[in-house]
Amino acid sequence: AGGDDAEIRADPVSTADGTEIEIAANVGTRTDLGPATERGADGIGLYRTEFLFLDRESPPDEDEQYEAYVEALDAFPDGRVVVRTLDVGGDKPIDYLDLPEEENPFLGERGIRRSLGPDSDLFETQLRALLRACGSENGDGLAVMLPLVATVEEVRAAREKMDEVAADLDEEGAEYARPEFGVMVETPAAAFVADELVEHVEFFSIGTNDLAQYVMAAERGNERVSELGDYRQPAVLRAIRATVEATEGADAWVGMCGEMAGDPDLTALLLGLGLDELSMSAVTVPQVKEAVTKTSLPDARALAEDALDAGTKDEVQRVLTNNIQR
Ligand code: PEP
Ligand code: MG
Repeated sequence: AGGDDAEIRADPVSTADGTEIEIAANVGTRTDLGPATERGADGIGLYRTEFLFLDRESPPDEDEQYEAYVEALDAFPDGRVVVRTLDVGGDKPIDYLDLPEEENPFLGERGIRRSLGPDSDLFETQLRALLRACGSENGDGLAVMLPLVATVEEVRAAREKMDEVAADLDEEGAEYARPEFGVMVETPAAAFVADELVEHVEFFSIGTNDLAQYVMAAERGNERVSELGDYRQPAVLRAIRATVEATEGADAWVGMCGEMAGDPDLTALLLGLGLDELSMSAVTVPQVKEAVTKTSLPDARALAEDALDAGTKDEVQRVLTNNIQR
């Protein structure tokens, strides 16, 4: 499924049977923008805003954030730019935020939990910068995404906050627009209630790094349990399928921005599972685009069915290996 020498395709690609699939890049620092465009990404599927807050003494102010988001939007004037609101806590500490000492930081106050709690001022500033960036010249493609969502209440509260911010900007006569609004599905809770969450969002993006960790109760990055935390585990595939299923017939698209999305050997499986968008490190964009062009959706759906029938990770791998050899 595509070697390192895959050709660079600057335009969006379609499956062999003609369905266009969005292939986007994950951006972790400002210097990732160049490679993302050079490797032919259609847009940004995950802009990790943590980097704007790292290696400094205090958080970036509204204008500094605005500039950074506009820079990303200008890099992809025709593409979508999905910006994730600040995701700290867990494995992502920031000194000046005074994060609590927790016995299980991955199960503690992280992601949206902090934005709706102790970091609500930062959240408001970030939303102001984002709505203003959405009103900029190339702002049309902006989408805002919430990390680590587990409940409908969190999504409602975040949406209300965005409404308040929009009302404030309106009153100030500031230039702004409303971005697309979505959530990451990276907790089992979000996958289980995806049919409820979908009523409140325009999109889902599945974060398989955390989803696999939480579904399997196997800490990410811990080599002793890496076999268990593998995204080929049947339980992880079923969580993905349940999430996608919730979007069928609803007015929402569904993408994936975890590591799994960047594995060209899994592209057919992911398209078969029903994903509309895949976002990955820029390096793998050409290979995954090539894999998309070689995939026919009916075959991919049959492959996904076989993979979902598999009872073990090894069986899933066998299904995938047989498919590559076919
Ligand atoms: C994920 O959890 O899959 C994800 C994309 O987010 P991060 O790796 O930044 O936690
Ligand atoms: Mg995550």
